[in-house]
Amino acid sequence: GVKSYQFMLRTKNPCGKVPNKLYLVMDDLADEFGIGTLRLTTRQTFQLHGILKKDLKTVMSTIIKNMGSTLGACGDLNRNVLAPAAPYAKKEYVFAQETAENIATLLTPQSGAYYDLWVDGENVMSAEPPDVVKARNDNSHGTNFPDLPEPIYGTQFLPRKFKIAVTVPKDNSVDILTNDIGVVVVSDNDGEPQGFNIYVGGGMGRTHRVETTFPRLGEPLGYVPKADILFAIKAIVVTQRENGRRDDRKYSRMKYLISAWGIEKFRSVVEQYYGKKFEPFRELPEWEFKSYLGWHEQGNGAMFCGLSVDNGRIGGKMKKTLREVIEKYNLNVRITPNQNLILCDIRCSWRRPISIALAQAGLLLPRYIDRLNLTAMACPALPLCPLAITEAERGIPDILRRVRAVFDKVGLKYNDSVVIRVTGCPNGCARPYMAELGLVGDGPNSYQIWLGGTPNQTRLAKSFMNKVKVQDLEKVLEPLFYNWRIERQRHESFGDFTARMGFDKLEELVEKWEGP
Ligand code: SF4
Repeated sequence: GVKSYQFMLRTKNPCGKVPNKLYLVMDDLADEFGIGTLRLTTRQTFQLHGILKKDLKTVMSTIIKNMGSTLGACGDLNRNVLAPAAPYAKKEYVFAQETAENIATLLTPQSGAYYDLWVDGENVMSAEPPDVVKARNDNSHGTNFPDLPEPIYGTQFLPRKFKIAVTVPKDNSVDILTNDIGVVVVSDNDGEPQGFNIYVGGGMGRTHRVETTFPRLGEPLGYVPKADILFAIKAIVVTQRENGRRDDRKYSRMKYLISAWGIEKFRSVVEQYYGKKFEPFRELPEWEFKSYLGWHEQGNGAMFCGLSVDNGRIGGKMKKTLREVIEKYNLNVRITPNQNLILCDIRCSWRRPISIALAQAGLLLPRYIDRLNLTAMACPALPLCPLAITEAERGIPDILRRVRAVFDKVGLKYNDSVVIRVTGCPNGCARPYMAELGLVGDGPNSYQIWLGGTPNQTRLAKSFMNKVKVQDLEKVLEPLFYNWRIERQRHESFGDFTARMGFDKLEELVEKWEGP
């Protein structure tokens, strides 16, 4: 297990933005003080594992002085704010990313203790935008705000961690519905951002055998004009601060407050802090999963290249080559919410040498990678996470190979794929409850199987079977995948198929299975 004097350290990078210098510093720190690998997370941050207590201050101050932060990456406050990682020059993308950064600044704790502790009080952060400071401190528009030194967190922070994502219509690279707050840029016909749709009440974590804990999708709260977004966010966060349950951490996420109250009551309480009515939620197009893998135009003359990093783990030759490329060409990078890496700001003339270097390190273009791997995710789990009940990151490569073998056996084609997500415990860090096939650790070498999510992450999966031993996965998967191949409607995804068939029917198929 994890030794108690070792620490896991997680950075804060709104939109997954990592300036060139910060990447190089993280790469060095992983070798010098960590376990020699970098881990990209599902919230667009780095994790460094295995930091010794005596080195913590050196590591923290190095990160802070190199334009990074760890402030608010853990604990009962707002976590890293997600936004699409693609470095498109398009207005709506830039606006979504700016909004994510402003929300992150708005919800940064104001106490100076963090800098006192790690950099001896040296103020190394840049000034905050004035409208963000105003939104934080100005309570004149709404009612019910007590006067507090920490205007948003009050004296005791939030009941529990809090997660926010911002995106643009169609782009569900951020798993928008799994967040406490999901914010969607709404633009006019000329592509000029006008305001935001807001979803509230998403969240993944649950507890095994406690039916009153559950994953939940965000639901529409309403629309706000763009000038009001920070006031609306603050009003929602303060509503949760004042009303979220603090007596039992199992029920303290905002999703339980909204489930208990219903969205109408929740909206009317938020409106008292916000000082206005929410406008009706604007109509949105269908969500699409976007991976940004491979080469793309940024729209400003430069290109970007999305790299598939299995489970976000960067080590060995891959780590060495990435460092060389990122250093040589002075590239900025972005971390995606799917634990992948985007190299940004690449000139067209660099494309060829960079492609060759990456391919030599095994960083292949998406067309050379099994589609199962491109959409799969696993959390760190054993041996790095103290909550883990069983394997995830270390187990998933073999699980994906076995799923592909089952596909071959039952006659599915190379192009057929399903979204698979594996976690070592029900906390659900890799968002398994949105997968078409989710495996959630529920005992040593055993998993609860979840089915019914969609390829674009818009429907919750449901738990199908408990305590399936990892060595017995084929007994469940063969009948399911065989029947999907035989019975599926045109273009029907595996998730839609399992949802349409119903679990009674699927269980029967598994029980009676005698081979294809
Ligand atoms: Fe740890 Fe559970 Fe999160 Fe996996 S899902 S990283 S085991 S807390």
